Amino acid sequence: MEKSLATTMGAMFGLIMIVAVVNMTQSMQPTPQYTCPICGLKFFTYDELYTHFITEHPAEPIEIIWE
Ligand SMILES: [Zn+2]
Repeated sequence: MEKSLATTMGAMFGLIMIVAVVNMTQSMQPTPQYTCPICGLKFFTYDELYTHFITEHPAEPIEIIWE
């Protein structure tokens, strides 16, 4: 009983470590998450994209509904 519990805990710990490493790798090498649908420029934040959109494409309707 205790041995299987330890095994489960070990497996969970391993999964947590994998997730932590993946998160660390992603934060070390950030990739732009937001792409302008008009010209294809990429931005790291929604605010950057929004500012670009309203200044560079003022004539285009704003249809940015990204998470
Ligand atoms: Zn653009």
